[in-house]
Amino acid sequence: MLKILNNFFKSTNSGKKKEKKMKILCVLYDDPTGGMPESYPLSTIPKIEKYPDGQTLPTPKSIDFNPGQLLGCVSGELGLRKFLEDLGHELVVTSDKDGEGCQADKELKDADIVISQPFWPYYLTRAKMETAPNLKMAITAGIGSDHVDLQAAIDHKIDVMEVTFCNSRSVAEHIVMMIISMVRDYHNQHAIVKAGGWNIADAVKRSYDVEGMHIGTVAAGRIGLDALRKMKPFDTHLHYFDRHRLPESVESELNLTFHDSVESLVSVCDVVTINCPLHPETEHMFNAELISKMKKGAYIVNTARGKICDKDAIADALKSGQLSGYAGDVWFPQPAPNDHIWRTMPNQGMTPHTSGTSLSAQARYAAGVREILECFFDGNSQRTEYTIVSNGELAGTGKHSYSKGDATGGSEEAKNYTK
Ligand code: NDP
Repeated sequence: MLKILNNFFKSTNSGKKKEKKMKILCVLYDDPTGGMPESYPLSTIPKIEKYPDGQTLPTPKSIDFNPGQLLGCVSGELGLRKFLEDLGHELVVTSDKDGEGCQADKELKDADIVISQPFWPYYLTRAKMETAPNLKMAITAGIGSDHVDLQAAIDHKIDVMEVTFCNSRSVAEHIVMMIISMVRDYHNQHAIVKAGGWNIADAVKRSYDVEGMHIGTVAAGRIGLDALRKMKPFDTHLHYFDRHRLPESVESELNLTFHDSVESLVSVCDVVTINCPLHPETEHMFNAELISKMKKGAYIVNTARGKICDKDAIADALKSGQLSGYAGDVWFPQPAPNDHIWRTMPNQGMTPHTSGTSLSAQARYAAGVREILECFFDGNSQRTEYTIVSNGELAGTGKHSYSKGDATGGSEEAKNYTK
């Protein structure tokens, strides 16, 4: 496996262990409102050996947490405190990340490493980066580093890493759940029961079978392809659009129809699932114009990034009936302001950003972050598949999946959310 040399050690102290005490700022979502759970529904989680393409799961030297417990919130600390403090480093964990004077901004100023999660993203804009002269690395505890201004990271030679594959399959499961629950109109039916009702006609007047429908993904990477595979047993017709074509063997295994443009894909699909990264090429891809080219009454499931869709165009299309439903778990910004139109638009099946942070996924990305940190402190090269920016350029997975530029703009609005 090709490895990418850790930028910091390459430029300063090639290959040697670094003894200097470092400050690691970790921005995580809030604890549960009632405090950390005393017990969990399951006492163990399944042990996964490998990802479908053969990539190994994270391989840290050891872990200091129990897989299956909450790690992604402030008190969970990604299970990193003992590891970092035993090495003499300082770990600061906060959820206070938006608005003037927030804790994260204060702590960033002398931080060496910042860790953040897409679910509760610390928007690392160019201006913030420029307040942090010691910053060497931004780690995404998950997948999707669009909350980091990648162009600024390139310019300032700040490495960007993410835990590729850690939650891709978790998201694909969420996509299947959302496609089926939306097409069958589960949310409405469940609400009727909860309200004490039994009007079956009300419950089924928007409910269809998925069988026979045309399902298409924008991007057939780790998530998109897995979502297609998972939808195959429902006897659907499967379509995809991507910048690169999948191997012929995969196309024939799943009986896939390839489209060379997103317009072609959306014109024939009943359900479109969006699975490309957010970068300047994909920002606002689903605008009013593209939505008008969709099959009338189609559904969209977007678990990729909120900003790939124009929020008002989506709400308008749901109101007019051009779209029958919109579901997903990604918003812009995050947390979504209380008055974000996607909270109240009709026929939506939104969740907060949860698909990639199931307890199962948390165990994988916490281990992945630890592996990245171990490599960094030991002066070892990082996995190419975890690398987005290295030594002032897009590298590894970043080179393949992202384009230069910045997609963090406008994130200031996140401060408008009140608990
Ligand atoms: P992959 O890198 O495996 O797949 C991304 C795919 O997107 C690649 O096939 C890439 O194409 C394709 N792509 C990139 N740009 C374009 C474009 N302009 N048009 C069409 N296709 C494009 O990533 P994953 O599948 O693991 O994750 C995808 C995204 O999902 C992440 O970037 C993240 O934003 C989101 N995500 C959301 C999570 C959640 O919790 N909701 C969790 C994890 C990820 P090619 O390689 O052919 O160039």
